[in-house]
Amino acid sequence: MHTGEVNLVIEARCGHVPRCPAADNPAREAARTVATHPEQGWSLLCNGDLLFDDTGELLPNGGVIAPHRPTDMHPEVFGSRAL
Ligand SMILES: [Zn+2]
Repeated sequence: MHTGEVNLVIEARCGHVPRCPAADNPAREAARTVATHPEQGWSLLCNGDLLFDDTGELLPNGGVIAPHRPTDMHPEVFGSRAL
């Protein structure tokens, strides 16, 4: 149902086969992008994860993941990985 409300309702559903990683899966970012709003700096993945330009994330359960990847440097500059 499309209500046209302005609430930020995340209703992405993964219809891919095989299923993409769920939002609570550490590999959640491997899910497909279903909506991109570069002017606002975020993308919506099919598992409901909101992925921001700075690599921060907003999970469908309300959880927030701080930016965890450098966006303007090469990863090898950093000695350790947050994974
Ligand atoms: Zn999917």
